[in-house]
Amino acid sequence: MACEHYTKKARGLSLLSGGLDSQLAVCVLRDAGAEMEGVTFATPFFAPDAARKAAAALGITLHVVDFTDDEIALVKAPPHGFGGAMNPCIDCHATMIRRAGELMTQLGYDFVATGEVLNQRPMSQNRQSLGVVERSSGLAGRLVRPLCAQLLEPTIPEQEGLIDRSKLLGLSGRRREPQFELARKYGLTDYPSPAGGCKLTEKGFGRRLKDLMVHEGLDDRRLVELLNMARRFRLPDGTGVILGRDASENAALAKACSESDTLVAPVSVPGPTALIPKVCTPEGLDQAAGIVCAWSRFDNFSGDIKVKVVAGATTTERTIPRPYVRDPFLPFQIT
Ligand code: SF4
Repeated sequence: MACEHYTKKARGLSLLSGGLDSQLAVCVLRDAGAEMEGVTFATPFFAPDAARKAAAALGITLHVVDFTDDEIALVKAPPHGFGGAMNPCIDCHATMIRRAGELMTQLGYDFVATGEVLNQRPMSQNRQSLGVVERSSGLAGRLVRPLCAQLLEPTIPEQEGLIDRSKLLGLSGRRREPQFELARKYGLTDYPSPAGGCKLTEKGFGRRLKDLMVHEGLDDRRLVELLNMARRFRLPDGTGVILGRDASENAALAKACSESDTLVAPVSVPGPTALIPKVCTPEGLDQAAGIVCAWSRFDNFSGDIKVKVVAGATTTERTIPRPYVRDPFLPFQIT
């Protein structure tokens, strides 16, 4: 009679971003005898769309975990610092693995897997970083990295014979050809570029995020979500102005406006809506109205532009005299 560990199928939960490596991890582990499901994370900084598509193509169940509070806490104070922008990758990755580990325990899986490749990314995937991530995730021994497992210590499910270690790979370095070859082998054709899709890696987004963190803070999720849209200004007195770039952004700003915000929009010409979150000084309001007019379409309009100002339950109208020029406001735009 066969021993239990030869007949029992390992059940694993793989972090699935939708990128090629995360899809390959699932394929390799299935070849090594494991039953796989996926877990992915959602925040205002990255969406689970690619993971959903990949899970459907792989035919696996996907668990989507709201990661916003975790990510905001890390952006405020990342124990291992940031990457090239406001991306706390080492801690973000370790926290995702920790959350996946919690799900693993809750749902009775044997291990968590990732598509990491040793030395693929100089900062976050060197041997030391992989060790830091494993230790800080609290999953020591139950974190399987099937694409480079042959270069790492055997994990508990490998030692227990639940996963066939000989089927795991020994990839290392930045060359992508081995992954492309594996993609052909497994018939994977649809995958976004590595590290794509996370706004925290974009320097411009990082500047807007930092500005929000310093002035209004990151506790209001509504304001964090608005970072994905609109032009933004920080005026000399500290007033923030979020300016819509098209009709859909104008509508979204109007919808997001709360009792404590101020909304400014032109009434006599087509133009953008401005949301001033929280504190709005008289000088700030004057300048916000100037910005709204300067970005309005007044070419065929010879009069002075009227704007409406909505603050709480009160709506007033103001006439803003010409000229309407953008140049004075450009130094305050956060790009
Ligand atoms: S790229 Fe974004 S989602 Fe990925 S580890 Fe870095 S911060 Fe987290």
